[in-house]
Amino acid sequence: MMAELTINDFNAKERPQWCPGCGNFAIMGAIRGALLDLRIPPHQTVISSGIGCSSKMPHYVRTYGFEGLHGRTLPVASGIKLANHKLNVIAVGGDGDGYGIGMGHFQHIMRRNYDLTYIVHDNQIYGLTTGQASPTSQLGMKTKTTPYGVVETPFNPVASAILGGATFVSRVFAGDMAHMKGILMQAMAHRGFALVDVMQPCVTFNKLNTYEFFTKRCYKLDSEVKKHDPSDRLAAIEKALEPEKTNYERIPLGVFYKVDRPIYEDSLPQIKDKALVEHDISDVDISGAFKDMM
Ligand code: SF4
Ligand code: MG
Repeated sequence: MMAELTINDFNAKERPQWCPGCGNFAIMGAIRGALLDLRIPPHQTVISSGIGCSSKMPHYVRTYGFEGLHGRTLPVASGIKLANHKLNVIAVGGDGDGYGIGMGHFQHIMRRNYDLTYIVHDNQIYGLTTGQASPTSQLGMKTKTTPYGVVETPFNPVASAILGGATFVSRVFAGDMAHMKGILMQAMAHRGFALVDVMQPCVTFNKLNTYEFFTKRCYKLDSEVKKHDPSDRLAAIEKALEPEKTNYERIPLGVFYKVDRPIYEDSLPQIKDKALVEHDISDVDISGAFKDMM
């Protein structure tokens, strides 16, 4: 019988190389806590990542992991799902990583509705490369690449995911770890593509979107008198547009949208009942394919 899991089972040996105070620490803690509370042992989870400060995560949470290329966390995660859809697969990345170079993957993988959780450390800046404007940087924000302020309309990941086919769309704040852990647990338990966009302060390079900034402006959707209905797609889009409509004075947190739809893995007869890794390939001869390449 397996020993009772503890939080220590998810602690990796490597020490995080993040700046003191970075929001990434709380995200790491929330992932570990969610895995513990869901009783998913380390060997049943794979964390994939791209490139960026956030993408060091597979080194710091004791599960299987794959640190990939810039913007490619979702193709790696979906490949893992196709090889063994019985695993709990978490893709992590940053806003520059996933909403910049990885944008095409984001749009197409969420519309396929793979059963995976995508956590975006959305710090509204490129942190690892020392402070350039990212796709989610606010209008007017001064950065190394925008000395006169950002002039481009920021990408809205929550609205885009609701429209793009994600079946679970949420936003959390790295300054509220307990709430973040609860939403992560819901995202992992959801059967389908779950986006968790995290307002993650980059304390070194983003001097606008600080802990104080979010603490003043964030509120929880389920704390409102008139409760938000996450099955109402139009209401979800309305809520997703609230930050830009209010010039970031009101930033809703929680589950914006949730719907049940068949997952991609179930629509493939080859893996529907048996994971690809469980198939017997002892009588499969691929030598002919190699001959063609000689
Ligand atoms: Fe965190 Fe920013 Fe430091 Fe990267 S540069 S570790 S995002 S505070
Ligand atoms: Mg970033």
